[in-house]
Amino acid sequence: MRLLIVEDEPKSAAFLREGLGEAGFNVDVAEDGVEGRFKALHMDYDLIILDAMLPGLDGWSLLRELRSNGKSVPVLFLTARGEVTDRVKGLELGADDYLVKPYAFTELLARVRALMRRRGARQPDVLQIADLTVDLLGRRASRGEARLDLAPQEFALLSLLARRQGEVLSRLVIAEQVWDMNFDSDSNVVDVAVRRLRRKVDDPFPVKLIHTVRGMGYVLEAR
Ligand code: CA
Repeated sequence: MRLLIVEDEPKSAAFLREGLGEAGFNVDVAEDGVEGRFKALHMDYDLIILDAMLPGLDGWSLLRELRSNGKSVPVLFLTARGEVTDRVKGLELGADDYLVKPYAFTELLARVRALMRRRGARQPDVLQIADLTVDLLGRRASRGEARLDLAPQEFALLSLLARRQGEVLSRLVIAEQVWDMNFDSDSNVVDVAVRRLRRKVDDPFPVKLIHTVRGMGYVLEAR
């Protein structure tokens, strides 16, 4: 398994190279966005760990170029705490997962392994669940012929649920992926957001796709 790390901070890059190397991965490092782009476009990797803030070419631009060049390699995006809109932007540009700095290495490793497992069933840029279409690149969603009018964060939430369709996502995972926050377990921020999303995605239509799994979270699937 071959990984590319695009990270300009030497200590972080060395730490990742060592940790992932010990975990059995073959690791390549690019120290800026330009080198990262060259390697990502010309070599084959099973996964790219991409820092957002990079000299030369930033992570979002690099990600956009990869996807527009048809490179579907999974990308784990690294952003700094607080860059909420940046993270939403990354999701919309086709990142497969996020991690917020500072992160625990064990969590990064778990996510890398999860992405690798999903790689076999690599998803296309346009997801179809029943009559729901989620265009991850075009940032559009529709049900049948009806275009859904979604705010950026609603789209981010919907695309997270759609990318992991059939998988029950806990409120914690949703909060972390969409808002970069660790809400208290009794916080209802996620519930409020899901309710709002349902009003647009499910309420006007006979077939409901977003389901509540009591005590666990939410799942998007055609039942
Ligand atoms: Ca950086």
